[in-house]
Amino acid sequence: VQTIGIIGGGQLGRMLAMAAAKLGIKTIVLEPQADCPAAQVANQQIVADYADPAALEALAAQCDVITYEFENVPVEAATALERTIAVYPPAKALEVSQDRLLEKQFLNASGISTAPFRAVDSQADLEAALAEFGGQGVLKTRRFGYDGKGQRVYRKGDDANGGYAALGSVPLILEGFIAFEREISIIAARTKDDDIACYDPAENVHRDGILHTSTLPAHISAQTAEMARQAAAKLLSGMNYVGVVGIEFFLMADGTLIANEMAPRVHNSGHWTEAACVISQFEQHIRAVAGLPLGATNRHSDCIMTNLIGDDIDALSDWLAKRNVVVHLYGKAEARPGRKMGHVTELF
Ligand code: ATP
Ligand code: MG
Ligand code: MG
Repeated sequence: VQTIGIIGGGQLGRMLAMAAAKLGIKTIVLEPQADCPAAQVANQQIVADYADPAALEALAAQCDVITYEFENVPVEAATALERTIAVYPPAKALEVSQDRLLEKQFLNASGISTAPFRAVDSQADLEAALAEFGGQGVLKTRRFGYDGKGQRVYRKGDDANGGYAALGSVPLILEGFIAFEREISIIAARTKDDDIACYDPAENVHRDGILHTSTLPAHISAQTAEMARQAAAKLLSGMNYVGVVGIEFFLMADGTLIANEMAPRVHNSGHWTEAACVISQFEQHIRAVAGLPLGATNRHSDCIMTNLIGDDIDALSDWLAKRNVVVHLYGKAEARPGRKMGHVTELF
């Protein structure tokens, strides 16, 4: 593989392009926004919409394999591309992870437990489902939600009136409220030959719905970590997956895990791997999609990854002044509230 096409030009695409360059592989980014984070480091950018047929054709013509940095690539576009070029992860992974209902059904069918859930397509559905779940639950849009957007939590006694319309009268899902003890995630990779490698699970803390920190090691038992690895392996083999995946779990007080969601791409809760492992999740993904052997996933240091969101970037000089912190900025000019500007990983 000489050239990899990356659909999406944000920070994840940027870090994939950096990892590819390190392996002597060229990258071409498809992204409508000019001067995007990925275009600053990729060899070339095609400025066009992610689903533009002519742009996708042009991308396929210049690349040996195509991957993506976000899960909202239209499934039809990926399926059409698959007829002419290898697309990794496969379109099936996109289909499942784009829709929280299909995602939960797929996880359950793979033997991985999730929160109980009900499809909600009307106000009446919402009220019936809430009643079934004892008046508590998390209402989410089935598609396009991220960073906690498109969600509403219901506690006992809350008025559900107008709840369906408030989330846009689009297909929704009501999940049972999970009283978890902590949240963890696992980053795993699979090659075409079914070689699977998992990093250690990270413990994640969210702030205002956005990932704030990932800490290694997570406060979990060896059995819980093994449970996460086995769930990842089942999921990847079951989909004939190629590339890196991120799977989020709720950790219950008894040590069992409930899967929350999966992302068919490199994941924010895996950014620590660039600083605390020899092979980062980004290089691992490039290796997997390029047909190269996977690298080691063991961790040489404990660490805490902290996202720099919006104004957090003002503390950059403090982070730089610490001698054991790896700083990674995304090249975004303007710091808006909620915007991911970079991340730092402190090693211990
Ligand atoms: P991401 O940015 O990780 O893609 P998202 O917008 O897709 O986030 P979720 O991961 O589904 O959203 O939910 C965001 C957070 O809300 C979770 O990390 C968890 O803290 C909380 N949460 C979500 N679902 C539930 C649930 N069923 N019960 C309790 N808490 C939940
Ligand atoms: Mg999500
Ligand atoms: Mg999430």
